Amino acid sequence: MDCIFCKILSGEISTKFVYEDDIIAVFNDINPQAPIHLLIIPKEHITSIADITPSNIDVISHIFKLIPKIAKEQGLTNGFRLITNSGKDSGQLVPHLHFHMLGKKLLNPYFDA
Ligand code: AMP
Ligand code: ZN
Repeated sequence: MDCIFCKILSGEISTKFVYEDDIIAVFNDINPQAPIHLLIIPKEHITSIADITPSNIDVISHIFKLIPKIAKEQGLTNGFRLITNSGKDSGQLVPHLHFHMLGKKLLNPYFDA
């Protein structure tokens, strides 16, 4: 499959992981919109949050369980923003589910980057 994040997961595109376990990987966005801009992705190829079903919902609870730990490790004590784009109208560029975690700057009231 021609998916850039699957290529990152397979090692075909070399990327340093901030965090990794059997279910997810976390790495820095190549085009950061804030001093901290991480991407949190499942290892399973799921196109977007619109493709979550009872059979793959566990990956979401796993991600949300780890979010406080990741935020703490990144020093995001002043808060952070978590975003996921889904589909064309959202401007989703990479069709592999991911959560953006942004912080260490006062963000605009609306995310339109
Ligand atoms: P989205 O618009 O929500 O699909 O966001 C996709 C994100 O992936 C963008 O913020 C890109 O900067 C980021 N991105 C694309 N290619 C890479 C890469 N090779 N390594 C890290 N981040 C990437
Ligand atoms: Zn993928």
